[in-house]
Amino acid sequence: MSSSIHHPKPYSPAEVAEILQAEVIGPVHDRRCLYHLWTDTRQAMPASESLFFCLRGPHFDAHDFLPQAIQNGLKYAVVERLPSEIPPEVTFFKVSDNLAALQILAAHHRSRLKSTTVIGITGSNGKTMVKEWLYDLLWPDYDVAKSPLSYNSQVGVPLSVWKIEPHHSFAIIEAGISQPGEMEKLERIIRPDVGIFTYLGSAHDAGFTNRRQKLTEKSKLFQQVKNIILGTDQPEVLEFFSNNFSDRHLYRWSFESKDSDFAFQHVKNDIYTLKKSPFKPLSQKECEFAVPFTDELSVKNSFTALSAALLLTNGDRQILRKMAALTPVRMRMEWTHGINDCMILNDSYTADPEALVYALRTLFSLDTSRKKILVLSELDQLKSEQQLEYFDILQRELSVQPSDRYTVYYVGKRPILPIPFSSNAIKIFTTTEELLQDFKHHPPTHTDILLKGARRFGFEKIAQSLSAHVHETRLEINLSAIGRNLSYFRSRLPNSTKVMAMVKAASYGSGSVELARFLTSVGVDYLAVAYADEGIELRNAHIPLPIMVMNAHPHVLPLVIEHDLQPEIYSFEQLEQLKNLSTTSLIKIHLKIDTGMKRLGFEPDHADILISKLQKLPNHIVVESVLSHLAAADEPLHKDFTIKQIEQFHTIAEKIEKAIGYKVIRHIHNTAGSLDYFDDRCQMVRLGIGLYGIAHSPEIERNLQPAVEWYSFVSQVKELKSGDSVGYGRSFVADKPMKSATVAVGYADGIRRSLSNGKGGFYIHGVYCPIIGRVCMDMTMVDVSGLDNIKADDPVEIIGPHQSIQDLARQMGTIPYEVLTSVGHRVRRIYYKE
Ligand SMILES: *Cc1c(COP(=O)(O)O)cnc(C)c1O
Repeated sequence: MSSSIHHPKPYSPAEVAEILQAEVIGPVHDRRCLYHLWTDTRQAMPASESLFFCLRGPHFDAHDFLPQAIQNGLKYAVVERLPSEIPPEVTFFKVSDNLAALQILAAHHRSRLKSTTVIGITGSNGKTMVKEWLYDLLWPDYDVAKSPLSYNSQVGVPLSVWKIEPHHSFAIIEAGISQPGEMEKLERIIRPDVGIFTYLGSAHDAGFTNRRQKLTEKSKLFQQVKNIILGTDQPEVLEFFSNNFSDRHLYRWSFESKDSDFAFQHVKNDIYTLKKSPFKPLSQKECEFAVPFTDELSVKNSFTALSAALLLTNGDRQILRKMAALTPVRMRMEWTHGINDCMILNDSYTADPEALVYALRTLFSLDTSRKKILVLSELDQLKSEQQLEYFDILQRELSVQPSDRYTVYYVGKRPILPIPFSSNAIKIFTTTEELLQDFKHHPPTHTDILLKGARRFGFEKIAQSLSAHVHETRLEINLSAIGRNLSYFRSRLPNSTKVMAMVKAASYGSGSVELARFLTSVGVDYLAVAYADEGIELRNAHIPLPIMVMNAHPHVLPLVIEHDLQPEIYSFEQLEQLKNLSTTSLIKIHLKIDTGMKRLGFEPDHADILISKLQKLPNHIVVESVLSHLAAADEPLHKDFTIKQIEQFHTIAEKIEKAIGYKVIRHIHNTAGSLDYFDDRCQMVRLGIGLYGIAHSPEIERNLQPAVEWYSFVSQVKELKSGDSVGYGRSFVADKPMKSATVAVGYADGIRRSLSNGKGGFYIHGVYCPIIGRVCMDMTMVDVSGLDNIKADDPVEIIGPHQSIQDLARQMGTIPYEVLTSVGHRVRRIYYKE
């Protein structure tokens, strides 16, 4: 992936030198080649395009990591002192204060962003929740950047601001402070246009003398903003803001309409309605929306996010609909799947008390039936009074949990501070290695694990060893990519065009419920499945969208209707059966016309009979849409045929509309059709393969992003002697000394046996390794003779940056659709957002 796509305006070393007023040692030129800021060598970065900041903390000094970074290809570093050896190819920018330099560079970047509206969020709690949900409500309909999970500190904020690019319409940045004087610095970097204040916490923060001071300090983020959204009705907050920010527009929301700008009212269960807003009133139906939370904190924070989103978009009504699909922040990608159904939250990077509270509540908030492990280390980065506060919080938060629900794993030489843990709730280790040994002998299962340790304890080793990624064959689905691909199609179609997302065959093999949930959150209008069972699965998972069932056999129609699914009607038998159902509640149907696919649908010759039957339909059966399917939209050779299909479709749709006396939604375009043949007599497209980043032409594919990657791992490496044969039937014989690797994936997982003996291969360490011998049911052997460092457990790429779905499809002699849908059930699906 080329980074230039993600950062259209890289900086040149000469510019950096000037912005930082730095003394430069080494080559400096005007080529714009610096895309990334790098502060932590544990994070993988394209080293040659990154600017490394040697930050210092009380117990670490990134200058120590310079040699390692240079070995990894680093070319540019900001330093306070030069290393003893100065490699000639590396450029050093010498400054007196590295952190200040990082902040200056970010502030400069911010000053160049003229057309992005920057939203600054602060408050004692709820910042991350509001930020994440505001993002989910806006994106992908709007181009939005946001800070990563808890990047709200003096280091995190500059890194977040750096990621804003000129094309972003909005950037949501969270700011957290722990003592006076810090917010001014963050304000200069963020320069928000709009401010959100979430909540004033009651806990006394160590760094502040009183609540008033805390409020004053936090509100310094809003020095220059015009609009401030208040997420709380705490009287002291309201009073403070109306006294001190009276020249700004303060927006409030409430559950009554009294003097607030947004008023929401509870209707029933999880349904609310927007009673009042500063924008054009909506119809009553449009005002209603569902909120998928019940706890007060989440409900309130989601309303703050909603008010902000409405304000930013001038009351875009699509946003209300997206409320139903917000997910708890706990489910976010920051949790990774571990071995044995464990979930791991690695929050080692923050040590502030607020982050601890947040992490603990996150750990305990959801899925109360699961066990919890809290892995802590000695906190040598904190001063002793801060440590006391830290353990105070720990004690307070844990004291409300039943002690059989969690175990604390403590790593450190100094004894843990006097916390009254019952002795069976704590395990003590002196080193991280000891703890790893313990995990080896007693691996946790079905447990949520929070890692919170000081840097020198290297808790990332724990995360790695628990990580499922290393030791399993998995299909990784990049939801963000799917969202971007959807946006691309939307950008190519008229604004009003609806999208029906095809989630048949477990969403092309990538998992129906997860995909449906995500697609709901990004505002698709309809879902379609092939069979009733697939639709029922989605309903059971509370997917709220209308769902069309394509193969609604007359026998399953009662089931379809009972589950609030909408049948595709392609035969007279189905129509008869529908009329015979005893229900009289509203049934929406989708009429399928066969315009040349010869698969399902009414023949055009039968249009007149169909129309006469439609005219006799009982009132509760309504034609929601008329559709047809293109047979060769992806093949220019058949252009005339495709156009003929479309014209015939409209002729019949027209007749139907006339006969029934109302307009229906017309749709005929699949992925390929929606780009090459869209015509505005249709109101909807049906997207499938394109969402995964696959299109019929390279020009279009360039605008899409592959959304699926497939990985496995090496089970064993073997040295082969000349004459050794490999696998069943001895179909491969080594003619020289070789090395083979056994990969944990076989034809039962979707690696076709036809790929045996060099017809296909995988990538290991970025090198192509052809298959040798025959593909087995569960394993495949590849030639790794060229790889010196290969060992068991090394990752294997089947589909990824080196080998696309199309490549694999070609090797198998099939199409990407079949590759995706034949990935076996036991291959674990992992979902993530970037
Ligand atoms: C699968 C399917 C689509 C989607 O096709 P893609 O090529 O994946 O976009 C559209 N319509 C119908 C009827 C389908 O069966």
